[in-house]
Amino acid sequence: MSDAESPQTTESIEPNEQRASPDPDFEPVSVFDDDSTMDLRPGADNCYKCSVCDTTCPVAEVDDDFPGPKFQGPEQWRLKRKDEGEIDDSIMSCSNCMRCDDACPSSVPLSQMHNAARGEYVDEQMDKLSVEYVRNRVLANYRTSAWFASKVPRLANFAMNFGPARWLMEKAMGVTSEREFPAFAAQTFREWWRERGGADASRENARAARERRGEAVDAEKKVAYFHGCYSNYNTPEVAKALVRVFESFGYEIVAPEQRCSGTPMFANGMLADAERAAEVNVSSFADLVERGYDAVASCTSCSMALKQEYPELFDIDGIDEVAENTFEALEYLRIQEDLEGQIAEASVEEQAFAYHAPCHARNQGVDRQAIELFRDLDGVVVEDVGDSCSGISGTYGWKEEKYETSMKIGGDMFEHMHDAAGDVGMTECPTCAMQMEHGTGYEIKHPLQLLEEALC
Ligand code: SF4
Ligand code: SF4
Repeated sequence: MSDAESPQTTESIEPNEQRASPDPDFEPVSVFDDDSTMDLRPGADNCYKCSVCDTTCPVAEVDDDFPGPKFQGPEQWRLKRKDEGEIDDSIMSCSNCMRCDDACPSSVPLSQMHNAARGEYVDEQMDKLSVEYVRNRVLANYRTSAWFASKVPRLANFAMNFGPARWLMEKAMGVTSEREFPAFAAQTFREWWRERGGADASRENARAARERRGEAVDAEKKVAYFHGCYSNYNTPEVAKALVRVFESFGYEIVAPEQRCSGTPMFANGMLADAERAAEVNVSSFADLVERGYDAVASCTSCSMALKQEYPELFDIDGIDEVAENTFEALEYLRIQEDLEGQIAEASVEEQAFAYHAPCHARNQGVDRQAIELFRDLDGVVVEDVGDSCSGISGTYGWKEEKYETSMKIGGDMFEHMHDAAGDVGMTECPTCAMQMEHGTGYEIKHPLQLLEEALC
């Protein structure tokens, strides 16, 4: 067993081998106590009850029982300040899509409030022996299951989609049997990366590219790649595309030690698990940022976690520096390089894509990049399928009791995908990709894969 792939142990990763020790005394931040380390009262007081957030909430739109973000955030917080009861269990129906955050004209930190309230609900009110808690814990810690599955990918792919096993998982665990489990790759990204020569090979490739591009061979173009769990275990082709595209622009890449970004843990109120993961990630990336690297993620939920959720929820040395120097992959290239110019000179085989912008991309202001970028690529049509939520929101749509809601939310997107030209989808988020594929049967690609086809 290689440490590099173990969900529990350290990996020997270039260039830093530092490891953070999870704090055994960690307690999720208590938002509602008077002595809270995170006082959200000013944020709640900023709410002037316009209800704009409620009108943008995809769950409230299809679920009449869900009271909406205004209640989940400022209203519930105010009630708690007056000591009027516990956290409402409807907080577990918020999918953490974060659209309300983006919509609020008064900058109320809604998702921070929701995350903190969900953490408190799970910590203090949820029965730890309940099927729901165990199911959510398993879903939130996808990396652990994926690590085991990646050791026997063929067997795992068969077993995870074997009818009787799926029936049992739904009945015993509440994991919907309506969806097909995504396949595990025969070789993980990290296995491929090591076999290819790791950071040393990347440095050589980057230097050769700089020479070709007429740049200084020793130019400081250094990127620390946050590939996340899904690109590592399920879609290594996305991670490989990032490596090849960035190297072709002269960036040398390192793939430091990393855990799950914490996105599924936030969504399930598992803040202690999320902080343990964040400790490792911040420790790894802060050291590199200090040495001149920028952090780049290919998944928009991962970049969202590092940029926004970590500094909102945790107090870890180096967390602000990591947040300030984290970028989504296309965002980074568009800032640093003349990507549009390069694309205008390239061409690929004729193809049409139905593009869905993930909610977490909208939240970072990077939602229309693929549309703008590929507009000038010869041979390609990329059509935006609108601003609706895909509805899966990570683990949300995998829960048996949330499946119907998830599919209702995704209805608009499926319809617009069918109306768009072509039968291939495109998105930056792996779970939106699952939902797109599930709702339409289309193959789904990441923009980096098209960029690789065009430029490499
Ligand atoms: S959008 Fe902002 S200000 Fe308006 S109700 Fe929601 S939280 Fe309050
Ligand atoms: S995060 Fe999404 S689901 Fe949750 S309250 Fe906000 S808009 Fe609704």
